[in-house]
Amino acid sequence: MSFYGKEAYALYRKFSTRAVAHTIKTYSDFTFPYPYPVAQSVEAANGMEYPMICFNYGRTDKDGTYSESTKNGMLGVVIHEVGHNFFPMIVNSDERQWTWMDEGLNSFVEYLTEELWDNKFPTKKGWAGAIVDYMKLPKDQLEPVMSNSENIIGFGPNAYTKPATALNILRETVMGRELFDFAFKEYARRWAFKHPTPADLFRTMEDASGEDLDWFWRGWFYGIQPVDISLDTVKYAKADLNSELPKGRLIERKVDAPAQNPYDDISKIRNREDKSIKFYTDLDTDARDFYWRYARGMEKVDTSESFTIDVPMSVTALTPEAKEKFANSYFYELSFSNKGGLVMPIIIEWTYKDGSKEIDRIPAQIWRYDETEVKKFFVKNKEVSSIQLDPLQETADIDVTNNTWGKMPAPTRFKAFSQKTDAGPRRGQSVGRNPMQAAK
Ligand SMILES: [Zn+2]
Repeated sequence: MSFYGKEAYALYRKFSTRAVAHTIKTYSDFTFPYPYPVAQSVEAANGMEYPMICFNYGRTDKDGTYSESTKNGMLGVVIHEVGHNFFPMIVNSDERQWTWMDEGLNSFVEYLTEELWDNKFPTKKGWAGAIVDYMKLPKDQLEPVMSNSENIIGFGPNAYTKPATALNILRETVMGRELFDFAFKEYARRWAFKHPTPADLFRTMEDASGEDLDWFWRGWFYGIQPVDISLDTVKYAKADLNSELPKGRLIERKVDAPAQNPYDDISKIRNREDKSIKFYTDLDTDARDFYWRYARGMEKVDTSESFTIDVPMSVTALTPEAKEKFANSYFYELSFSNKGGLVMPIIIEWTYKDGSKEIDRIPAQIWRYDETEVKKFFVKNKEVSSIQLDPLQETADIDVTNNTWGKMPAPTRFKAFSQKTDAGPRRGQSVGRNPMQAAK
């Protein structure tokens, strides 16, 4: 239901109850069925939420016309305040402690609802670019989303926009819609009519999806670092298919002396001194072999004599099919650095010389061993003319000037061979001549 004065007729008659109904339906789809008997939108000076009733702004001009921003602002505020029926009226987080848990989550579902109202709706919160200017601020002007409500300077960007953007990136770029929507719905279902804290959201999103998202919560909710992934270098190579097979090599070796630790360790000494300890090879002398005796100088071996080993090559020539494949392959090694500090998936758009494009999506886990620099090797069947990172600007990267590579270097040539599987020692066999052989 809606209530409004005649000054708001042209907007509220047309949109208010429709927006209320669309909000209830959409939020229910992403969470749980709306459990209350009614939802009401009352036209007022500003937006404020209460269970089943909320107050929203948006009046027409005297002639009954209105600007596009008034209309979109009115729709946005109705969706937002009606949405609060779900967060925090039902999923009852503590706004005084964690503002972002209801304003951030509500702004996120508000964003989803606006997107489903009209595909052209100019959303203010939720899309990645909406947070870039905030994330670019000097660090002393930023604070983690996980800050107590009363200590937040940038209330709007910190508690509304950043968590809404983070959840949207988690949905679209990190987890995918199907997995995210399932886990988010599970959070809403588990915590409806209860009092969740941040850990309850983080934990439910992880155990409902089966994904380890600790890095994501740490970066977006506990940190203040922005996303700035830089494409630093591109190496380009073609296979050299005419190179000669490398020759094997000869190396000089001697027969191994007995294996010994560099000193007698304390355990060995005490074991010897403890007369209650019996060594197996003393109790069962059948366990004594050549090396038992060799270690005790009981086998005479000339270890001064040198001999030559022919070390076989570990490669063979390519098959004609493999040559064909290599001849038509283009090899690229891309180096990336994490200049912003917040790890994110790496999204790479390749533009080929023939004008076609392709996108590779590398999960954020690529950073797990080194969160400052990573390299990734690609084999393509067409020559690349340029590369762009994050072409849809979905990660909130604050500096897009280091996201492109336009001038491709001339290819170097690398020698192409097949790896031999039967070269060298197998199953731990010794190489060359061992002491037992030397002792004949
Ligand atoms: Zn709100």
